[in-house]
Amino acid sequence: MLKLYNTLTKQVEEFVPLNPQNVGMYICGPTVYDYFHIGNARTFIMADIIRRYLEYKGYNVKFVMNLTDIDDKIIKKSIEEKVPASDVAKKYSEAFFEDIKRLRIKPATIYPRATENIAEILSMIKALIDNGAAYNVDGNVFYNVSSFKQYGKLSGKRIDELEVGARVEVMEEKQNPLDFALWKKSKEGEPYWKSEWGNGRPGWHIECSAMSCKHLGETFDIHAGGNDLIFPHHENEIAQSEAATKKPFVKYWLHFGFLNINKEKMSKSLGNFFTARDVLAKYSAEAIRLFFSQAHYRGPVDFNNDLLDSAEKGLEKLKNLRSTIESAVNKNKSGGVDPGFNFQDFEKRFKDALDDDFNIPQAVAVIFDFVKEANRTISDKDNLQLNYYLALKDFLIKTADNVLGIISFEHKEMKSDSLLENELIKILIDVRLKAKNEKNFQLADDIRKKLESFGITLKDTKEGTEFFKRD
Ligand code: AMP
Ligand code: ZN
Repeated sequence: MLKLYNTLTKQVEEFVPLNPQNVGMYICGPTVYDYFHIGNARTFIMADIIRRYLEYKGYNVKFVMNLTDIDDKIIKKSIEEKVPASDVAKKYSEAFFEDIKRLRIKPATIYPRATENIAEILSMIKALIDNGAAYNVDGNVFYNVSSFKQYGKLSGKRIDELEVGARVEVMEEKQNPLDFALWKKSKEGEPYWKSEWGNGRPGWHIECSAMSCKHLGETFDIHAGGNDLIFPHHENEIAQSEAATKKPFVKYWLHFGFLNINKEKMSKSLGNFFTARDVLAKYSAEAIRLFFSQAHYRGPVDFNNDLLDSAEKGLEKLKNLRSTIESAVNKNKSGGVDPGFNFQDFEKRFKDALDDDFNIPQAVAVIFDFVKEANRTISDKDNLQLNYYLALKDFLIKTADNVLGIISFEHKEMKSDSLLENELIKILIDVRLKAKNEKNFQLADDIRKKLESFGITLKDTKEGTEFFKRD
């Protein structure tokens, strides 16, 4: 049974999705005005592992990640670079997709963009005005925070305390300094969309409320993001969605700890960041994922090259076992002994770890225990049956590859066409053997050379001919 920490209730709760098979999950994605940094990558990777684990458990996950493709930062960049805001968004959205692919992050089911959902955003703003939760002042529409009595329920903040602390240089038109913009009147030269309140563009918070509702419904299961988004972004999303629909917005709120650098949050504004691309130039995606997997998703992590180096080194153990498995599977020998390896025990431990509020470091420890145990078994017995190696491979694909993404069997996986390929190679090996027996050495040699030219090496041993495939 999966349990997870819910920021809303501040408790570890049993996970019971609204629908027993289908899980709706939303994560706040990037503002596409620059390359994303390795701190953002931590959040994306943690959400990816959680999503993959839910899939491992058999849920059909609809995973929605928005792209904020219009906002102040994008407009600023477009002015600096003298290009339209849409070009800035296009350039960095493409870079985002390249980088998440390289980080082995599974594509979302859908990536809605703010600029493509203006109609939905406008209709939610209208509903808020109709419900008395928002007001229009000369083309700027604001959310009236004091109209939502539960404001603060996610972050634990209290409106009266917030009001005292709110900065004074707020826009004059607001009724209350805590009120926030739903629709921003466009300034000269800025991109805009038409609305009944005049030309303008959506505020950041409203896009997530409108797009999550469109794709996941008025109430859905999981909403995730970094800790910095709890307040005000997620607090505001709740206020908007619940005031518009009069229904509970999200069942479980998950928040990820920061990636820090010298104990300070890595962020664009502080300038203390490395882009994910910079880090990918030095380290493999698997090492980056392993590095992040060694800390609990809720706690902070300090960026550290030494730890990344040791993650890269740690992966060697996993890769060596993969090579051993691949060569045993390629040899495809029949017979051999069953070592009585207890796979169920490892599978149970892996599940127990992740069911316990996604204890990813513990799940990683189970994988490395598994590697140790497999190596011990392999070095103890030299004639292990093929099924044993296939089971090792199956376990690692299901866990370390498909859930954690810290090893890849992809390029070597036995797809159906590669099974057929193996059978065809075996037929050619038989023909070659017959040719040799009939002293037709020319034909035997031709077959060997032809296979070699396709990257397949034949090796004659006492037990017959084996073949190896190069990558
Ligand atoms: P942004 O583009 O800044 O809105 O960030 C995209 C996502 O990355 C959000 O979910 C943020 O909470 C998250 N994020 C930003 N900085 C960090 C950091 N230093 N560590 C972890 N997550 C972060
Ligand atoms: Zn959001």
